Amino acid sequence: MVDIRGVHKSFGATEVLRGIDLQVRAGEVTVIVGPSGSGKSTLLRAVNHLEKVDRGWIGVDGELIGYRRAGGKLYELKEKEILRQRTRIGFVFQNFNLFPHLTVAENLVEAPVSALRRPRREAVATARELLARVGLAGKADAYPRQLSGGQQQRVAIARALALEPKVLLFDEPTSALDPELVGEVLDVIKDLARGGTTMIVVTHEIGFAREVADTVVFLDGGVVVEQGPPAAVLDTPRHERTRAFLSKVL
Ligand code: ADP
Ligand code: MG
Repeated sequence: MVDIRGVHKSFGATEVLRGIDLQVRAGEVTVIVGPSGSGKSTLLRAVNHLEKVDRGWIGVDGELIGYRRAGGKLYELKEKEILRQRTRIGFVFQNFNLFPHLTVAENLVEAPVSALRRPRREAVATARELLARVGLAGKADAYPRQLSGGQQQRVAIARALALEPKVLLFDEPTSALDPELVGEVLDVIKDLARGGTTMIVVTHEIGFAREVADTVVFLDGGVVVEQGPPAAVLDTPRHERTRAFLSKVL
């Protein structure tokens, strides 16, 4: 579903991604862990073409992100086509990024109606279902500021699902939350995992990774240092850098 090949990305003179290869199969959950500054957000953003890569390519569901191939060369897609691609790749940010001036229901209805041209009535019905699924059936008419951080993040997840994404990307979805609110958000993500949603989750929640991930990837210095099943990477890491990182976060 997600195919990342030989991806390099620099900001100025700093190479932040230094040759990333990563494959995520449909229905699988990949958890990316790694120190601050290792390139985790840049990699997720590249999958959504919020960052343009310098070298290599990224495919989602068989389609190149931001480019098309013709005659052995890569050509950049037009902005409109990139926006179309982006609507089918869900992104959940650390800071929720809800529209503050819209109600919870309107946050979920806006994109399906404007980007996917869904009839409003249908989008409203879907919004209600999704809010029930994340445990917020009673909050449809509330504004984001009236909700706790955990509730806002659950709305953000429902909003991403409203576009029926092929893959959901989470960038530290619980890092901005008070500790007592982390569990309710992780429970929603776990529920999606059980339902077969393809996901890439950047998180420092190692317990969550152990329980939910099909694959854990340890990223450091812009390279994949090691990857494998949670038990292998988290309990018996092969690399000293992985061991050193885990000893700090566990
Ligand atoms: P992580 O998410 O693992 O903490 P990031 O991908 O956010 O790491 O950042 C990797 C490195 O790239 C950091 O050194 C960061 O300062 C740098 N960086 C990220 N985005 C930009 C940008 N837009 N301009 C310049 N440097 C950036
Ligand atoms: Mg980050």
